[in-house]
Amino acid sequence: MIKFLDLAKQYQSIKGEIDAAIGAVIADTSFIGGAHLRRFEEAFAAYQRAEHCVGVANGTDAIEIAIEALGLPHGSEIIVPANSFIASSEAVTRAGCRVVFCDANERNYTIDIDDLSRRITPQTKAIIAVHLYGHPCDMDALLAIAKRHGLFVIEDCAQAHGAEYRGRRVGAIGDIGAFSFYPGKNLGAYGDAGAIVTNDAALARRCRMIANHGRVEKYNHEFEGRNSRLDGLQAAVLSVKLAHLDEWTARRIAIADYYLEHLRDVPFITLPERAEWARQVYHLFVIRSEHRDALQAHLKAGGVETGIHYPIALPKLAAYRYLNQHGEALFANCADSTLLSIPMGEHLEPEDARTVVERIKAFSP
Ligand SMILES: *Cc1c(COP(=O)(O)O)cnc(C)c1O
Repeated sequence: MIKFLDLAKQYQSIKGEIDAAIGAVIADTSFIGGAHLRRFEEAFAAYQRAEHCVGVANGTDAIEIAIEALGLPHGSEIIVPANSFIASSEAVTRAGCRVVFCDANERNYTIDIDDLSRRITPQTKAIIAVHLYGHPCDMDALLAIAKRHGLFVIEDCAQAHGAEYRGRRVGAIGDIGAFSFYPGKNLGAYGDAGAIVTNDAALARRCRMIANHGRVEKYNHEFEGRNSRLDGLQAAVLSVKLAHLDEWTARRIAIADYYLEHLRDVPFITLPERAEWARQVYHLFVIRSEHRDALQAHLKAGGVETGIHYPIALPKLAAYRYLNQHGEALFANCADSTLLSIPMGEHLEPEDARTVVERIKAFSP
């Protein structure tokens, strides 16, 4: 049996460190705020090579608070790729802005730069650059468009901890970046957690205030904010795991390289392409097949777990019928029935990757 995700195995490999870290938080009762949170925020800012990190309650809040902190006029349009998790677009609406979907490219599934240009109107104020599946967006091209039209760039890095665009870590390449530490992400907490990174001190301060009731100090509130804090227990867990992330990412990349080499000539699938400028951290390894459902059933019968990310493109969800973009001939609108995520993660052994390849090759469409 080859699992899609195995958090129990990961915990066993670092149990001593995790148990000690949790015990320490409980012992000094630093549940909200405190040294464990500060230590993680500093470590994660350094890891992403950003000047500031603000811990928040989850990745969706991170995007929403980042947008709110930019202070855009109500009803501003924000461009979001059509192939992502709903959080990328949900946060836009929740922050009082209007979602405009643009296509994904068929090489690495991140935002399609040509379609992005076509979506810009006088109301457009920002772009959500989702580094999907851990592959960075083409940031030079995206930033050039943003500069030309005076748009903010918000990076959705929920799947891209440690990913690099031409040697630069994602998150603070644009104006502000949002991370999720949902348990199944490359860096995952033991519950919900998220963070915002930026090189802009004023923006970081504003995010911190929004996430903590709009206050500068206890009971002194400059404006109405909300409660979206990263708690001490999660921060302590994340600090332990962050120290292992490079090793885990190296394992993901090795598995991906094995797949890319050994599945190259399989006729009934299309492999993802990693751009030469990308350090992709492979949150997911997504292939395409016209025979997706049969292939998935074949793999399941052979003990190989798979997933689909995402089965319905965002414009086609009931939640977005009002935008009337479901009928557009976008690659994302058409490809959703062909996407298949094959096993990927630090839990996989080299022989697991060999088994996955063998089982895929044994499929006859
Ligand atoms: C997981 C995810 C989010 C949301 O993160 P949560 O912590 O679950 O709120 C946002 N965007 C993308 C692309 C994600 O994969």
